[in-house]
Amino acid sequence: MTTRHPSRPRLQRWLDTGDPRRVANHIDTCEQCQQTLDELTALDETTVADLQAATTPPEDLRERTTGGVDARLRDEAALTAFGDLFAIGWDVVRAVIEPETTDRGAAQDPSAPADDPNGGPS
Ligand SMILES: [Zn+2]
Repeated sequence: MTTRHPSRPRLQRWLDTGDPRRVANHIDTCEQCQQTLDELTALDETTVADLQAATTPPEDLRERTTGGVDARLRDEAALTAFGDLFAIGWDVVRAVIEPETTDRGAAQDPSAPADDPNGGPS
């Protein structure tokens, strides 16, 4: 199996626009591309530093360069965390509610996991 890495321009475009989404999925699992992203981000920071030396850049310029990358990655991480939280939450909700609302006549152990939250497919 060959892993195809997005080209640098493609990574840069993802930084700028968030497209294509599958680049984010790839970066999530590819250390090499994360490193490339770090380099691209470092370049951006250098650019911002240069601009600051010459003049004070508008606040949103920093937002669009370094902050934009952080926000993008944070969005991805938050989505993943939210998904995990939600899945675990539903297990708890089901375990708490089902014995009372469905009343199957059996004393269900509420601590018995419906799904193993740690053993999901990956
Ligand atoms: Zn890669």
